Amino acid sequence: MASLNQLAINQITNDPVETTALLGMYSKLGVPSISPWRSKLEEHKISTGVFNKLIDDAGIEINGVCFCGSYGSQGKAGRQAQIDDNKKTIDFAVEIGAPSIVTLAGGLLADSKDLDYSRKFNMDALAEILEYARQLGVTLGLEPLHPMYAPDWSVVVSIKEANDWCEQLGEGIGIIVDMYHTWWDVTLEEEIRRAGKHNRIVAVHVSDWLVPTKDILLDRGLMGDGVIDIPKIRQWLEDAGFRGRYEVEIFSNEFWSLDQEKYIELIKDKFQKFV
Ligand code: ZN
Repeated sequence: MASLNQLAINQITNDPVETTALLGMYSKLGVPSISPWRSKLEEHKISTGVFNKLIDDAGIEINGVCFCGSYGSQGKAGRQAQIDDNKKTIDFAVEIGAPSIVTLAGGLLADSKDLDYSRKFNMDALAEILEYARQLGVTLGLEPLHPMYAPDWSVVVSIKEANDWCEQLGEGIGIIVDMYHTWWDVTLEEEIRRAGKHNRIVAVHVSDWLVPTKDILLDRGLMGDGVIDIPKIRQWLEDAGFRGRYEVEIFSNEFWSLDQEKYIELIKDKFQKFV
């Protein structure tokens, strides 16, 4: 059973709530840590300076930042613009003192079916932003996504591939283990051990896989409501040396329609019972 001081919540989990109001809610309800999205702060017109003050006043820690990726989503011609945008996210992470950034491998190059070439294209682009992150001292956390997301978000779909990419890319990049994306993998335990051996596990995300899943993006479950054996995977992570927080990250039309304070209380309850 996890204790509340190990909890972090990804901002997208409470997507309907404006950032300032959300920090107030987390402070009031005893949520100790958040992973903000650069795009949400821009949407809510909150500068990093103002955000830092809000976070300090609320006594909330930053677990990570969302996100880097999408290198080939605008095709080859859009590569540089995407890299520049990712660099802005790295700047953002530096400005708010975040330890790491959720980093996606990127999906298929726009209008392409060439998976091998897309892997190469994405890894080259990622190497370029990694170099920038190294200079600024921010760790990138490569997060493999479920294979359903290979066409649009991530050609890296397993911890094994993430380990292989980290080996090729070198220093400054680790792995984010999101249980929603990786629970099904027969090599998960062994690859978590491999990641741990190289001190690569930078963050962990939790939610649950509902049966049936009604929407591949927006129907994640609360911990304990689906089929993921969360405590078992948590044990593997801790055996591999992970001592960080467990970040609840839930994209869900259903939960976004609830009263968000009541929903946060539900998250805290499920977190303590099922993580
Ligand atoms: Zn995640």
